Amino acid sequence: MRIYLDHNATTPADPSVVAAMTSALQQQFGNASSVHSFGQTAKTVVDEARAAVADLIGAGPQEIVFTSGGTESDNLAIRGTAEALFPTKRRHLIATSIEHEAVLHTLKDLAKRGWATTLLPVDDSGVVGPQALDAVITDDTALVSVMHANNEIGTIQPLAELAAIAHRHGALFHTDAVQSIGKLRIDVADIGVDLLSLSAHKCYGPKGIGALWVRRGSRLIPMMTGGKQERNRRAGTENVPGIAGLGAAARLAIRQAETEAGRLAALRDLLEAGILQRVSGTLVNGDPTRRVSNTTNISFDRVEAESLLIALDLEGIAVSTGSACSSGTLQPSHVLRAMGHSPHRAQSSIRFSLGAGNTVEEIDRVIAVLPKVVNRLRTVARASSTPSPQSSPVGG
Ligand code: PLP
Repeated sequence: MRIYLDHNATTPADPSVVAAMTSALQQQFGNASSVHSFGQTAKTVVDEARAAVADLIGAGPQEIVFTSGGTESDNLAIRGTAEALFPTKRRHLIATSIEHEAVLHTLKDLAKRGWATTLLPVDDSGVVGPQALDAVITDDTALVSVMHANNEIGTIQPLAELAAIAHRHGALFHTDAVQSIGKLRIDVADIGVDLLSLSAHKCYGPKGIGALWVRRGSRLIPMMTGGKQERNRRAGTENVPGIAGLGAAARLAIRQAETEAGRLAALRDLLEAGILQRVSGTLVNGDPTRRVSNTTNISFDRVEAESLLIALDLEGIAVSTGSACSSGTLQPSHVLRAMGHSPHRAQSSIRFSLGAGNTVEEIDRVIAVLPKVVNRLRTVARASSTPSPQSSPVGG
């Protein structure tokens, strides 16, 4: 039995997505900008997908810009807004310290080019308090970017409150909703944001396609120069098969946010309770209630997360760590560190992210396997940290 518990990394394409993409590749293969009937047929596919994505978030179709995924959407939202507002002298950008690298590295880059940037702290459950934003925002702030749900711990941010603060200061508000699409019901009017990023491969769509929702009237400088596609906001021939796949994924996500969330929360809670009961030295990271239904992040005291990941993989169970390998050294998760957890806790934490295919039998198997795997790793760690007689210092 192979068990996939890494849906926050990526998801398998739904059969409806594969069917839509296959049809776009084989039948609606025209260039969506061409005037002839082949082009117009492809354009219909793009228009239908645009309507589906707009429906998913309660937006208007003309406000959707197709991109190559979450990373490009985040870049376009931040760089596009920063550049558009440059002449207004608003040169301050704010994000949280637990954003995805697509946001963090974009801010870092803009900081090198003269923008002032501020990263907001989070509390020990990974939530950004409105007072933290209140304390740093000024009338020079151009954009505040706060993710909807965190990819490592699943914590959901109080977007409406934060967006209201940004707007009081005349700043725009962007949210990276890559991890909440299909998990939470989203209405851009309710959460009060101006820009929203999403990505198809996190919700049973294909990789390499996503969208940025831009509130009508928001100013945005495109990042790429070229053709006039996407109402001059994103040049390049439309990726019709990818867009068709995103459209199908969006239709599915609308249903899933209604129907799957309860089932996944029950499975996730079963998994979490089983682990906490049967494995000593375990703690849940993140807010226990204010989080998406499919995610739990657990630290295993005295266990290297990477070793646990590999040991579980050998048992056919795929999970993930928040650690990132940078220049050959394992960096503890920036999210867990920002929450105030020690490097040890941050390096002994595993993310389990559930999805459509998971069953109770799979969760039972994970709960059965984990205690013995963790005990074995702890025994090995203890043995290797006990000095051998030869290497003991000679006394006297
Ligand atoms: N934002 C978040 C929160 C993510 O989890 C990811 C993917 O890991 C991204 C952005 C990047 O999306 P993509 O892989 O489509 O570029």
